[in-house]
Amino acid sequence: MPIYEYLCLDCGKEFEVVRPMKEADLPIPCQQCQGEHITRKLSVFNACSGGRVVAGASSGCAGCSASSCAGCKH
Ligand SMILES: [Zn+2]
Repeated sequence: MPIYEYLCLDCGKEFEVVRPMKEADLPIPCQQCQGEHITRKLSVFNACSGGRVVAGASSGCAGCSASSCAGCKH
């Protein structure tokens, strides 16, 4: 199963969860504060190797102007 990275918007905790792909976008509480304001970071499978991934954004990475990391040429 793939590993997904999540970022808690409440306390800033980053954590990884192994879960089925179909559950990747299901809500999950923060492992540190149990907060529910969680955003999923891009997985290693489609993360840019160049610029930093913008936390919580689905609008691509900071290193390029592509609308998604699939179009990132870095
Ligand atoms: Zn938290």
